[in-house]
Amino acid sequence: MEKEFLYDILRREIRDRKIPLSLGKTCPVKCTFCYERDHQYYRNSFDTPLTTQEHWEFILNEIRQYPTVPRESWVIGGNEYMEWTDLFLHPRCMDWIEEFLETTGRNIIMFTVGYVDPVRINRLTEKYPGRINFELSVITLGQHRKQLMPHAPSAEHVLKILDGPAVTSANFYSFGPGTMSEDARAISRVNPRCLLWMGCLTPLKTLDAQTTALTRYGRRFLADEARRIYSMNLPNITMIHTESYITAFLNRNKILKTFDACGLDKKDTVVMAGNIYRILHLFRRNRARFLYVPNDTLGGDSDCSTLLTFNDIARRISGQRVVYIPRVVMEHASGEERDISGNYFAEFKARFPQVHFKVLHKVNSSLSNKKLYEKGYIKNYVEDYLGNPLHKKFEAVSLPN
Ligand code: SF4
Repeated sequence: MEKEFLYDILRREIRDRKIPLSLGKTCPVKCTFCYERDHQYYRNSFDTPLTTQEHWEFILNEIRQYPTVPRESWVIGGNEYMEWTDLFLHPRCMDWIEEFLETTGRNIIMFTVGYVDPVRINRLTEKYPGRINFELSVITLGQHRKQLMPHAPSAEHVLKILDGPAVTSANFYSFGPGTMSEDARAISRVNPRCLLWMGCLTPLKTLDAQTTALTRYGRRFLADEARRIYSMNLPNITMIHTESYITAFLNRNKILKTFDACGLDKKDTVVMAGNIYRILHLFRRNRARFLYVPNDTLGGDSDCSTLLTFNDIARRISGQRVVYIPRVVMEHASGEERDISGNYFAEFKARFPQVHFKVLHKVNSSLSNKKLYEKGYIKNYVEDYLGNPLHKKFEAVSLPN
């Protein structure tokens, strides 16, 4: 790859507040659930070479040219134009992070399945308190770990990392009875401070049959697992963030209020994924034409308006004259009106000259992110979702063909 071309990619990632290190190859951990294993069908990435000392100096100098914004964090890894990998496998990663913390005064966000030396990362956290947001992808400590993460560090190593101040949040999921709940208990025992972030892994269409079956099996036990965690009364903050239908149900009042504020006519056609369709079908039936759009690009069990693509919407256009699209579909990290595949809204509109597309600006990612965190606690799920008989009616709403 030409140096100038590489530096242009790095600059683009840096503009999005990334620290774009590269392993120079696909991720060797080979997690069976990884959405990056076959990401070409929803986004393009460039094959960047292994980051060298010269590249690093370029990255650091570029970053230094941005103003320091209080509370702003820089993410280790580029994921708009580069492939996502576990960068803690890069032999210089920790040295460079240390240099970054020491010389820039800025904060970092880091993700890894556990490729860090427990002593070093915990020491670094003590040296730079509050500056490192460490999201540890535990996934599972139990019997399915080897199947799902064939080359990941051992569960014992992960628990050693957790035993200290470094980890800010640990994410792990339900794969059946006594999985998520037992992991919560084990993690809380060694680290009663980190945030526990749970739920299910969503199978996309590229996952193998065995992984898909296991994640779906796990979903069947999510309620039981969550109830068990709720009754443990752990000192950690416990959250559930992966289930869009739960988030939609818990935020139904805000969704309805936002829908009402859009001032739509009953003849207007509105694009939405299944979770929002179920809410509006139950509470605002016939107040507009609800155009249910499946997440075909990602496939599998994905069901989320934020992750819809223009190609998904194109498949459902048939004779409509005016179509309303939520702003959230086109809020690309670059600031341009592009979907998660990088396709431009302008190009999509040009494909359908007979249709007038209008944007619902009130339905944006700042609203959805805020709501995700506000009502994302296990307590909300157990008390206000499972504890509300209406959730059964909500789940029973069938989606149009
Ligand atoms: S470590 Fe992360 S990037 Fe690598 S295969 Fe696993 S989930 Fe994917």
